[in-house]
Amino acid sequence: MVTFTRTRLAPSPTGALHLGHARTFLLTWWLARQSGAQIFMRMEDLDVGRAKPLSVRQAYEDLHWLGMDWDPFPGSPQPGGEVVQSQRLGLYREALEQLWGQQAIYPCTCTRADIAAAVAGAASAPHEGEAMPRYPGTCASRELTPLRGLSAQEAGIRIAASSGKPVCWRLRVAPGVIAFDDLIAGPQALDVAASTGDFPLTRFDGTPAYQLACVVDDHDMGIDLVLRGDDLLPSTPRQLALYHALRWTPPQFAHAPLVVGTDGKRLAKRHGESRIAQFREAGARPEQIVGWAAWRSGQRATSAALPARALVAAFDLARVPGGRVVLSDSDFRAIGRR
Ligand code: GLU
Repeated sequence: MVTFTRTRLAPSPTGALHLGHARTFLLTWWLARQSGAQIFMRMEDLDVGRAKPLSVRQAYEDLHWLGMDWDPFPGSPQPGGEVVQSQRLGLYREALEQLWGQQAIYPCTCTRADIAAAVAGAASAPHEGEAMPRYPGTCASRELTPLRGLSAQEAGIRIAASSGKPVCWRLRVAPGVIAFDDLIAGPQALDVAASTGDFPLTRFDGTPAYQLACVVDDHDMGIDLVLRGDDLLPSTPRQLALYHALRWTPPQFAHAPLVVGTDGKRLAKRHGESRIAQFREAGARPEQIVGWAAWRSGQRATSAALPARALVAAFDLARVPGGRVVLSDSDFRAIGRR
């Protein structure tokens, strides 16, 4: 039995929610409602280029339609008590100032191309197809003493002006393995300093990076259990490094294996129409999707239709299978249309 008091659903409004989202969010909701914990809604809309107001509304509608609800976050100005990241920029700035005061972060002007050039030819050069090379620490040795009396914001403006380049802020990562026990994925260990290196907490346009906003919000909201897709498993050791730097207690983590297409890639249009809204428009009932999610989460032997609240009492996180769910025709058949 997992003990916790607060969790959250944290969609990004960058597109419509699909079956994979439905399954992960249902797992979180079942666990919260079973434990008597609070569950909050947090809209992660900081990626301004991709955030769409329409998909915010649609995400709420889709989740309500599936039978999920959430508790109002105290002090939220939203009618449904949701937390909206773009309305909380001051909070992220405060955390950044705290880290700057502790000398835990430094300003960096390295672009992706600068980093690729710096590591090219070095023994640690990334292999083709590898996402991001380890940050070689180019800007870590910049002389910062003359800027110490300034805020991080002012210091960043000075460096941008003198270098003619935009600035992001990186966390200094201490060497060593960061380990944690994942409630679904089991024991995890990663040496962030050796694999990722110092990582950015802001983007070049000054907006907070996902890692910073997520940690600040989870802490501020009192979240003590995070359940999310396992595409974010590699982010968690970085987030733990940040919790440590900020001297905050991290939550427990549970990373649910993703639902992927037959090619093993994350769900996209080419895998068939898996958007919740599309099932709804085609006349499916929410119970059919919930029944499918319960079946594909090891909770039920068949995909028989089921309202979300019907599984609250019997839900068992230990039964969620460890492997990724490969979405095939049999899944679409199991959901049915009417
Ligand atoms: N907004 C993120 C996503 O949609 C989830 C972040 C999280 O749960 O920490 O992938």
